[in-house]
Amino acid sequence: MNSDLELLLKLQVIDYDIGELERSKEYLPDMMGNLRKEIEEASTNLDSTATEYEQSRLRQKSLEIEVQSLEANLQKFQQQMMAIKTNKEYDALVSEIDNVKSTISNNETELLEIIDRIDELEKDSEDRKEKLLNVEENNKKQLAMLQEKVDSIGSTMETKMGNRKEISSSITRQTLTIYERVKKGKGGTVVVVVKKRACGACYKALTPRKVQEIKRADKINTCDNCGRLLFWENEESN
Ligand SMILES: [Zn+2]
Repeated sequence: MNSDLELLLKLQVIDYDIGELERSKEYLPDMMGNLRKEIEEASTNLDSTATEYEQSRLRQKSLEIEVQSLEANLQKFQQQMMAIKTNKEYDALVSEIDNVKSTISNNETELLEIIDRIDELEKDSEDRKEKLLNVEENNKKQLAMLQEKVDSIGSTMETKMGNRKEISSSITRQTLTIYERVKKGKGGTVVVVVKKRACGACYKALTPRKVQEIKRADKINTCDNCGRLLFWENEESN
C-alpha cells in the first residue's frame, strides 16, 4: 500500500479520537449533571417522606389528647345526668352528650387513618433510604470515573495532537492538503474503503480502471463524486 495512504489511515483514527475528545467536553458534564440530579431527587423524596411522617405523628398526638379530653367531658356530663331535675335540662344534656360522642367518633376515625398512614410512611421511608444509599453508591462511583475522564481530556488531547503532528510530518504535503480539504468540507471519514466496486461513502460506482488503480495503490486515488480518498481492503468485502 502507498505509504501516504497507510499514514492517512492512522491519521484518520487519531482525528476521530480528537473529535471524540472534543465532544466529550460537552457530554461528560451533562452525564455528570444527570447523575447528581438523580442523587438529589432520591434525597428529596426521602426528606418529603420524613416531613410527612413527622406531621402525621404530631396530628396523631393531638388527636389522642383531644379524644382524652372529650372522654373526660363525657364522663362529667354523665355524672350531671344523675342530678337532672327537669325534662328541659335532660334534653339539653342528651344533646351535649351526642355531640361529644360524635366528635369522639370522628376523631377516632381520623386517628385510625393516620395510624395506617404512619405505617405506610415507615415502610416508604425504609425503601427510600435504601434507594438513596444505592443511588449514592452507584452514581458516586460513576461520577468519580467520569471526573477522571474529564481531568484527563487535556493530557490525552496533548498526546493525540503530538501523534498527529508526527504522522502528518511524514505524509507528502500534497496528499495531506487533499485530506485536510476533504475533512474540512465533508467531515466524518475521509479515507474510505471501496465497497461493491463503489465509493464506500457516497456509493458512486467506480470504473473498472479506477478499481484497478485503487487496487494497485501506488498513488492516492480520490472519488470523482465526493472527493474522498479511496482504498482497497480485501477481496471478501468486495
Ligand atoms: Zn464518493
